[in-house]
Amino acid sequence: MQDEVLIVGGGVAGCAAAISLARSGRTVTLIEREPTPRHKVCGEFLSGEALDDLSALGIDVASLGAVPIDHVRLAAARRAAEAPLPFPAASLTRKTLDTALIAEAIAVGVSVKRGRGVQSLRRTTANLWQATLDDGTTCQAPTAFLATGKHDLRGHARPNDPKQWVAFKMYYRLTAAQTADLKGASELTLYSGGYGGIQPVEGGITNFCCVVQRRYFAKAGLSWKSLITNMQQDCPHLAMRLAGADPLLAKPITVTHIPYGYLRHTTEDGLYCIGDQAAVIPSFTGDGISIALYTARCAAAAYLAAEPAPVFQPRLRSVMLPQMRLAVVAANGLNNPLARAVLPFCLRVWPGVMRVTARLTRIAQHAAVAPQAVAG
Ligand SMILES: Cc1cc2nc3c(=O)[nH]c(=O)nc-3n(C[C@H](O)[C@H](O)[C@H](O)COP(=O)(O)OP(=O)(O)OC[C@H]3O[C@@H](n4cnc5c(N)ncnc54)[C@H](O)[C@@H]3O)c2cc1C
Repeated sequence: MQDEVLIVGGGVAGCAAAISLARSGRTVTLIEREPTPRHKVCGEFLSGEALDDLSALGIDVASLGAVPIDHVRLAAARRAAEAPLPFPAASLTRKTLDTALIAEAIAVGVSVKRGRGVQSLRRTTANLWQATLDDGTTCQAPTAFLATGKHDLRGHARPNDPKQWVAFKMYYRLTAAQTADLKGASELTLYSGGYGGIQPVEGGITNFCCVVQRRYFAKAGLSWKSLITNMQQDCPHLAMRLAGADPLLAKPITVTHIPYGYLRHTTEDGLYCIGDQAAVIPSFTGDGISIALYTARCAAAAYLAAEPAPVFQPRLRSVMLPQMRLAVVAANGLNNPLARAVLPFCLRVWPGVMRVTARLTRIAQHAAVAPQAVAG
């Protein structure tokens, strides 16, 4: 039997859309290529908006062990500055979060096919979306949601990433003194060619997630060990954090092709693009999960209100454009050597700017969610 909606990708955005649609009485098939959730490259910071959306989806992050985060610290060269966050926040590993989201999708009646990658998604002559899976089987539905995150599907690719970012995630067990010093903080560390976030997650461990332009990785001989040594030389605060720390993964998890600043302009009839397939905000904002949830919520509302995908997608883009532009400008500033040198000093003098930037680089979560609000 054919469901009404087909969702490709069972990460944050795909699961959130599936849960919303199933709760509204729609029949949904969700296809996720991993058999079980696994670690993903992500700083695992959950902003206030993400916490609200997750709670509305029935995900109680506190019961999953999420760690409260109440201040942000910025460290560059020999200086660090900190400020309280202007919203409640937390951190939780993606493995735990994605496990809870998939379980909730199944609980509300979504038909979840796991361990099956979609190889192609195309419109048939019968006006249906047809996904061809890696075992050769097919799934069809009149409407499809594209939620494959950082991975592009053939025929639906996003533009190139001119700076050629490479992202890494590593878990560490810090020393007791460093664990205590990091408590409640999300730290942004700046170094040549990129930046990294360091923060506690559940289980008493610490996530270090960073991005660097490929040419800086190449300068380090494409070696993680050399790269992290270079980062620590540039940013002694990071060296202090990681002194005596035990790495908990044999090697970092990596991802490439991150088109920061991307906002999808258009889409085909009946194909709603959500999560990183709709928008990719610079990682320092820690807002990607929140945006994935927001775009899923907006797309589900648009579909339920019979707003066609080619009308919805540019509308979503225009709502998100101001914050995206600001986040890109701020990210370029972080990558500027002069700005890196003076930033912590300026922030110490005026810590309020961190709160203002954290607020302004949030997507206007409550704007234009209802399709009819824009149509009118
Ligand atoms: C370095 C870095 C740090 C970040 N830090 C943070 C942070 O601290 N806080 C934050 O909020 N955001 C952060 N983000 C952003 C955040 O990780 C993403 O924006 C978010 O995961 C997007 O959700 P999604 O559902 O679009 O994609 P995902 O959560 O990646 O889900 C996509 C799913 O699709 C599946 N899939 C892919 N291809 C196929 C296929 N062909 N067939 C079937 N299934 C498929 C994948 O297995 C995956 O489960 C960070 C990003 C980067 C790069």
